[in-house]
Formats: sequence, structure tokens, C-alpha cells
Amino acid sequence: MSSTASAARAHLFHTGSVERYRDVLTRGVERVARRVAEVDRPGTGVRPEALAPLVGGIDLDRPLGDTDAALDELHDVWLRDAVWFHHPRYLAHLNCPVVIPALLGEAVLSAVNSSLDTWDQSVGATLMERRLIDWTAGRIGLGATADGVFTSGGTQSNLQAMLLAREEAYRREVGAAAVRPARPEVLARLRVVTSTAGHFSVQKAAKLLGLAADAVLTVPTDAGRRMRTDELARTIDRCRRDGQVVMAVVATAGTTDFGTIDPLPEIADICTAAGVWLHVDAAYGCGLLVSPTRRHLLDGIERAASVTVDYHKSFFQPVSSSALLVRDGRTLRHATWHADYLNPARAAEQGIPNQVDKSLQTTRRFDAGKLWLTLRIMGPDAIGALFDRVVDLAADAWRHLDADPRFEVAAPAQLSTVVFRYVPPDAPPYLVDEANLHAREALAASGAALVAGTKVDGAHWLKLTLLNPETTVDDVLAVRDLVAEHAAWYARHATSLAPVG
Ligand SMILES: *Cc1c(COP(=O)(O)O)cnc(C)c1O
Repeated sequence: MSSTASAARAHLFHTGSVERYRDVLTRGVERVARRVAEVDRPGTGVRPEALAPLVGGIDLDRPLGDTDAALDELHDVWLRDAVWFHHPRYLAHLNCPVVIPALLGEAVLSAVNSSLDTWDQSVGATLMERRLIDWTAGRIGLGATADGVFTSGGTQSNLQAMLLAREEAYRREVGAAAVRPARPEVLARLRVVTSTAGHFSVQKAAKLLGLAADAVLTVPTDAGRRMRTDELARTIDRCRRDGQVVMAVVATAGTTDFGTIDPLPEIADICTAAGVWLHVDAAYGCGLLVSPTRRHLLDGIERAASVTVDYHKSFFQPVSSSALLVRDGRTLRHATWHADYLNPARAAEQGIPNQVDKSLQTTRRFDAGKLWLTLRIMGPDAIGALFDRVVDLAADAWRHLDADPRFEVAAPAQLSTVVFRYVPPDAPPYLVDEANLHAREALAASGAALVAGTKVDGAHWLKLTLLNPETTVDDVLAVRDLVAEHAAWYARHATSLAPVG
């Protein structure tokens, strides 16, 4: 064996290297702990042009050979300027601080490195994932035939839901036709209906699934940013008259932009009457499944044909951790393909459990292991109580902003989002837009706080996504005042600054 190979062997994780494993991992944990202990703002506002030369200047063919040196370098290119979701003034996107039991799970699952495709690569982990799927389906109320699978995120969960809905609609169309239609002819007529506040991954899924360019129909929302069910019913009728087939309605339980929940019982009624697959995208709102006080906000979700949940949004899990749940487990067969080397039909006939038959992925992380340890150490009520806290905080923040004459607020959220904007007195619309855009950028550049932006009816607004139970009303009010200062400064100086566009 070459000396390079024998040196390399020392890095392999195996029975003979557990001491090195313990030492190296402990050093890593110590670095992260030290860095997090000193974090005093959610980000540094670093610009890509400052970091790119550092990252680009590293010679990946010349190893440092030393753990501490590599960790020093990692600090310079990443950890020093990282965005910290645990900081109470990170109020931007749907990123949550993570719970320590899940971090423990992450460390353990990557060391063991089980792969959740087949039994012979995962053993107990497959059964544990199945228990968590059953547990989640039970919380939703999907009934005895429910099943599902963990996925990499809401985007993949939505894609898979649309795949199953497409295949079910196709089967029905072909079954009902006197003359078997060509598959492309059927696919061209399939439509998906969601609201204007639905997530863009639905559009992406439609594209990937070979549907028509105009396959996704968006119905307007009401003043509360919830899908208008009269418009939904009208859209389904119109499709029918035009010879189109609505393969799925996607209701959103927790819109990304507004934190609002579509009227699930009414939508379920319409879908039942029309015989249409109801998919509930609860990527954000799934935290309500464990809420001690707000589970009722998801009433109606139990009538879905499929549900997306993102544990990495409202269960305080590290990325990635998501699942797709279906009412009728048999529909998951549309994702099944038997490969002789991996999952021959023979194994399925012998009743040996595998998850690859239900998944778009083959090799797959044991993300369920994080949720498992979270439930076993903290329990579901503790997770729900954390989510309740941020929903309460959003309600408080909304009231303060609504009462503040400097600001305008959008519809109050049912979850933990507050959409608002600074309105300088007597300012023309373009200036209101620019002042808010400027405030967001100036805040980010200072690193003092991070807020998100979105568009409301074509105008630029600001958005607080509150997922940190450590954030207080005082944090929100301080950020509000910083936004007002930056925006007012811009409005005052706008006459001397050229308007953009
Ligand atoms: C975040 C989100 C998604 C996408 O989920 P990822 O985990 O980011 O892939 C889908 N739908 C909604 C409503 C979301 O908020």
C-alpha cells in the first residue's frame, strides 16, 4: 500500500478510528459553540465580491492536512459571515432556529449513514421513518390507508404530489374514454388550480411533469389573502366546459408571503363534489399539527388526498426534513420502479419493507432520525409550544405596526408573518417603493437585522417571518424603528437621488 493510502485510511470512520472521530468532531462542535456564543447580530452584511476571492483563492488540490487549520479557513470563508437564524433579529425568511435534539440526530445519522432506500441499507431506520409517517398522518387525520415518505423539502413533496395527482387523473381519463386517447393529448388538457399566493414550486412541478405552459391556473385571494372559493368553483367549471381536466387543487396552509391559510373545509367540499385531488401545501403551517392551542386552524386538512409538511420550517429541524403524506398509500406506486439490483418485485412480495418504492430519490438521508430524537427528548407539545410563541409574537407585532401611523400593514396572518411597509407622508408611490427597498438593503448591510421583502399588488412591501421563539416584541419594535429611520432618510434625500426605473 502506498504511504498516501495508508495515511488516508486514518481518516476513515471505522472501529479502529473512533478516538480520532471523537477528537475531530469535538473540535468542530467546540468551534461552532465558540462562534455562536459570540454572535451579536444575525449577519455581517458581507458582499459576494468580498468573499468570492477568498473562496476562489483556495487550492482544493492542496489539503491543509490539519483539522484546526481547516477549521480556521472555514471560519474565514463561511462561519465569520454566516447568517444566524437563531439570532432574535433574524426576521427574514422561513428559516427556523434548530433544536439541539435534532442537531444530535443530525450528527448521529450522518455517522451511521444509513440509506433509506432499502431494508438491507437501513434496517430499523426504515421502521422509524414509517412510524413518523404514520404519526404525522395520524396528526393530520388521514385515516387507516394513509402513507407517505420523507423528502428533501417542500419543493420535492409538492412535485411528488403533483406526479401522483397527474397519474391518477390520467388513469381516470383513459378509463372513461371510449377510444383510448394518446398520452400527450391527455397531458395537454390537465390543469392545476392554486391561489395567487400559492408557492412557485407548483409551477415548477407542472413544468417538470410535462404539463402545458399554462397548466397552473391561479385564482384570486380575498382581503385576508386566502383563496376565494367562489373563484375556485368558477375556475373548475370553466375548465370542464373547455374540455380541460383539473388534476389537482393546491390549497396552501400557510402562504409563504402572508402566513394565511386557505379555507380548507370549503375547498375540500368543492374538490369532493368535483372529484378532484386536493393537495394541501402545509410546508409552513404544519407546526400547527402539534400546537396546543391552534390545531383547529388546520381543520379540513384531514380531507386532503395529499399533504406537504416541512419539519425544517415549523418543527425547528435542521435542513433538510420534509415529508409527503397521502390519504391512499396505494397511489405512491406511481413512484415505484423495480430494479433487479436494488428492489426486485420479489423482495416486495416477501413483505420486506422498503421506502425506495415510495420515493423519487434512491439513496436517501435518514432525516427522520432528527425528528425521532426531537420527539423522544422534547415531545410534540414542546415543539407546538415554541410554534405558538411565534404566532403570538406575530399577532403582537401586527397590532403595534397597525397602530403606528408611519406604517401600513397587510392582512393579519394566521401564522407568524407580518407584511408591512413604511409610508412617508405625501410621497408618490415610486418613492414609497424605493424607501422600503432601501430600508431593507441598508438594514441588511448593517447586519443589525434581516427582514424580507415581497410584492403586494405590484408594490414593494417588507416582511417579517417570525420563527424564533427567542425574538421578543422589543426586538420587533427596535427593528421597526430602524426600518423607519432608513426609509425616512431615503425619502428625505430622494430628491437629490435619481429615481430607479
Ligand atoms: C417553503 C415552501 C415550499 C418549498 O419548500 P422547500 O422546503 O423550500 O423546498 C413550498 N410551499 C410553501 C407554502 C412554502 O412555504
